[in-house]
Amino acid sequence: MSDQPTPMMAQYLAIREANPGALLFYRMGDFYEMFFDDAVAAAAALDIALTKRGTHLGEPIPMCGVPVHAAEGYLLTLIRKGFRVAIAEQMEDPAEAKKRGSKSVVARDVVRLVTPGTLTEESLLEARRHNYLAAFAVIRDEGALAWVDISTGAFSVMDCALPRLAPELARLAPREVLACDTGLEELVADAGAALTDLHASAFDSNAGARRLCALYGVETLDGFGTFTRAELSAMGAIVDYLDMTQKGKLPLLRPPMRERAGGAMQIDAATRRNLELTQALSGGREGSLLAAIDRTVTAPGARLLERRISAPSRDLALIAARHDAVAALAADARLLADLRGALARVPDMDRALSRLALDRGGPRDLAAIRAGLAQGAAIAARLPGDAAPVLRDAAGDLVGHEALVAVLDDALVAEPPLLARDGGFVAEGHDADLDQTRRLRDEGRGVIAGMQADYAALAGVPSLKIKHNNVLGYFIETTTTHAERMMAAPLNQTFIHRQTTANQIRFTTVELSELETRILNARDRALEIERGVFDRLRRAVLDYAAQVGQAARALAEIDLAGAFADLATGEGWVRPRVDDSRAFVITGGRHPVVERALRRKAQSFVANDCDLTTGATPAIWLLTGPNMAGKSTFLRQNALIAVLAQAGAFVPARDAHIGLVSQLFSRVGAADDLARGRSTFMVEMVETAAILNQADDRALVILDEIGRGTSTWDGLSIAWAVMEHLHGMNRCRALFATHYHEMTALSAKLDGVENATVTVREWQGEVIFLHEVRKGAADRSYGVQVAKLAGLPTSVVDRARAVLDALESGERQAARPVALIDDLPLFRAAPPPPPKARPLDDRLRAVHPDTLSPREALELIYELKALS
Ligand code: ADP
Repeated sequence: MSDQPTPMMAQYLAIREANPGALLFYRMGDFYEMFFDDAVAAAAALDIALTKRGTHLGEPIPMCGVPVHAAEGYLLTLIRKGFRVAIAEQMEDPAEAKKRGSKSVVARDVVRLVTPGTLTEESLLEARRHNYLAAFAVIRDEGALAWVDISTGAFSVMDCALPRLAPELARLAPREVLACDTGLEELVADAGAALTDLHASAFDSNAGARRLCALYGVETLDGFGTFTRAELSAMGAIVDYLDMTQKGKLPLLRPPMRERAGGAMQIDAATRRNLELTQALSGGREGSLLAAIDRTVTAPGARLLERRISAPSRDLALIAARHDAVAALAADARLLADLRGALARVPDMDRALSRLALDRGGPRDLAAIRAGLAQGAAIAARLPGDAAPVLRDAAGDLVGHEALVAVLDDALVAEPPLLARDGGFVAEGHDADLDQTRRLRDEGRGVIAGMQADYAALAGVPSLKIKHNNVLGYFIETTTTHAERMMAAPLNQTFIHRQTTANQIRFTTVELSELETRILNARDRALEIERGVFDRLRRAVLDYAAQVGQAARALAEIDLAGAFADLATGEGWVRPRVDDSRAFVITGGRHPVVERALRRKAQSFVANDCDLTTGATPAIWLLTGPNMAGKSTFLRQNALIAVLAQAGAFVPARDAHIGLVSQLFSRVGAADDLARGRSTFMVEMVETAAILNQADDRALVILDEIGRGTSTWDGLSIAWAVMEHLHGMNRCRALFATHYHEMTALSAKLDGVENATVTVREWQGEVIFLHEVRKGAADRSYGVQVAKLAGLPTSVVDRARAVLDALESGERQAARPVALIDDLPLFRAAPPPPPKARPLDDRLRAVHPDTLSPREALELIYELKALS
């Protein structure tokens, strides 16, 4: 055996080398095969069998494969596990290759590189979430972030210096981030994305501008706005990458939208995580704010909701306009139900459009556009002329598309198949040529069916059948018992033998094969006509893509307003007043996620007020109360109410007045943050520093047990100083929960700081949580009682109570409580209290009766008597 690779292996290796960094799916008939290290890695990742095929350089070649029809599922698993996959298809019919010679290999080439940020298949995408691909570029000191959802075509860019990158990635949650030698590994991994390091040439800003001009077919980008070099570089990198991964089939990208950095409430990564806006701490969607409030009925509506919750607006007029729309729909139950019913039948036009643009679409995508636009017009007609402006604008984008709907409707059957390949989607009456060809094809089939009786009579075999299979095409079949007669004169004049199986014998006739050829030709011709119709329709839709996209956005907007209205009426939420003031007055506020969880357990949520308005001074509530009383819940519910209000929703409260919040910060003491597995106290301090350095006077800050990650007095001092800084320097609205009762003294010192507590009642030595927030300081912490509720051993609870009593009485007497607490071995394993000296017991314990002589016993009695 020589070590020369076979021609096929040589082709494989060449393609492999041209596509480094990706697993190669190498098409062989009905399978995608993988070889060498790819096979080993993929077999492990997919849990499929690893086999061998031939040898290379004397070694067996590891191989594994997945069937083409099931490839999407395997692809998804691989992408989720961080692989990228290059798909090499057969570029010609194997028969063509054979014609060139027996050694000739079927031409193959990579048609697509599948990466986490470039998915378009319906089955690989989550319908209700965006799938962003982002690129970060730095040119000199300027940074920029561009991002695209190729499954919808939405393309955005913003000015973004490096320090802002983490919060922006946290907001967008992209699947993949493109960068160039930046050392962003950790930052990108933290955002849950895959980092793709590209060559510097992909980020060249001049080339970027040229690529964008070419993409949009314009001479200059001025029509889209003015972009910085870094922005051009980031957008250019995205276009370049799409070109590479899609092998020249560029998706339909909408013109880039420039996002203003100041347009949205700033929320950093830690705050998002902590407030569980779109993802619960456990990682999933369930348990997040998004999951609790999502009542949208379309996938684009759900994606819009996620965008709004991730980036609540800072534009007062826009917020008010969105509230107007919600109010209008909430006030008209019939209209609302009607609209939502109609919306539920609207397909995902965004994604259909993008598949069509990438030439991965089928007749069903055309039908989705037809249904979406037709439904859209019906929805617009339902909206009254005097609807709120947001709804009126949306209605405006939904009308006037009759021409395209008519074209599609005329051409397509009611329920077209998924793939264009097999035809059958063009409606009768659309194309006379097609109708005639189809008739020919069908008539031929009818004629063949009729021939069976004639041949049966001719052969004198009543059981003779005409059948069809993929190998022989049409054939005549009888049982082998008739073989002899059929193959002798005169019948052999007509019947031409084709095949003999165990029990059957098969024939054709000149007439039958001629008819078959006619049928096949008619079928091919019909398919060709249908393909032409499909291409024409696809082009018609793509020429109209901008309007379709606009209509899709309008439907999402109506869906979202309807979802918010449904939430408001169903849950008793109210319209918040958002204005330019510094107010923060929530009456009867609730936590939407906790309330939902309690409801499942048939418990009710105790609504609470929060008032951070104290005139011109900054207002801070210092919240004390035992663990489990509801402090964190209260803190978070107020932050969530601010998010909801500025996202355009109504809020879970009886009344809410919110002065625009520009930045939202939320931090939890390190002990709650163990899941992150870092030096938690350090993380807590770094994050707290970020707040103190950034929060402006429009910020809303929520600090939960800050300082807990260190020893008591360190923690108290830090919490104290943080509070003073927030008050004196940041001058923002803040809620501060702590178990350091000492801090309640601050309210007397600092103007604008108020004490509040979550009340509990003590009843027969037990605590009962009332979950009511009221002004004032907690009188005690009840930690010991809570510990008892948690099932700590009685001996420990008793001991704790004793230590507490000692501490409290000591505190009253001692001038320096610090010294007292430092002296107490609180955090060491406290030994049981040294027993009072019991000499009698001790002496008795030392006695071993078995060893005592009668005389020693008598002496012992005298000794004990003396001790007693
Ligand atoms: P803390 O931060 O004071 O330790 P949490 O806010 O974590 O307490 O609340 C503990 C539990 O108490 C919550 O999981 C919830 O079940 C319940 N709870 C909190 N606030 C309320 C409320 N307002 N009404 C009813 N139950 C509440």
